[in-house]
Amino acid sequence: MSENLENLVRDLWIDLREAKRSVRASDLAAGELAELENAGYVYREGDMVLLTDKGETIGRKLVRLHRLTERLLSDVLGMEEEVYEKVACRVEHLIPEELEEAVCTLLGHPRICPHGKPIPPGSCCLAGKRYVETVVHPLTELGEGEAGRISYIYVENPQVMTRLINLGLRPGRRVTVLKKFPAYIVQVGNTQVALDAEVAGRIYVVSGPRRG
Ligand SMILES: [Zn+2]
Ligand SMILES: [Zn+2]
Repeated sequence: MSENLENLVRDLWIDLREAKRSVRASDLAAGELAELENAGYVYREGDMVLLTDKGETIGRKLVRLHRLTERLLSDVLGMEEEVYEKVACRVEHLIPEELEEAVCTLLGHPRICPHGKPIPPGSCCLAGKRYVETVVHPLTELGEGEAGRISYIYVENPQVMTRLINLGLRPGRRVTVLKKFPAYIVQVGNTQVALDAEVAGRIYVVSGPRRG
């Protein structure tokens, strides 16, 4: 199946299932509709174009892969939006099933893409799968006395972000949780920093093997 055809199924799924917009045969180029029908992804009811079970499955999966890839490219690789949008459109077609689960688990089963759109959950999310080692998860999941290395920080407010960076909280730094209540006290280098739970939950760390 070609990338173009896959992208068509993905966009149809978004229109029909997410935006709940109906799609008419005249909304698609004649060649596109024939290709989609021949591949068994859509069928027609009068003028309406509807997804078959196969189209439904593939469309949802592609939306999931597209948004997961966006997360990976923006959060972990630090790509700018205009770059990762284009790259995600290519890479999403290349991810095999085993890698999809690994990427999703690595990212902590994210529920939204960087644009705030929902990521349809996979079986890994429902099972709450996690790696025993080198898992990325929020700082709030560390216990008192546990340490991790900062992987990325997902804070939208630039002032909060600047404050964190000035305090030495940036990707690559090792951070130890000293106290969790009433506020988070963490040690980074020689500095102790107080954080509220909301901000601590947006700092993602990689930790070693976890007990229990
Ligand atoms: Zn997105
Ligand atoms: Zn998952």
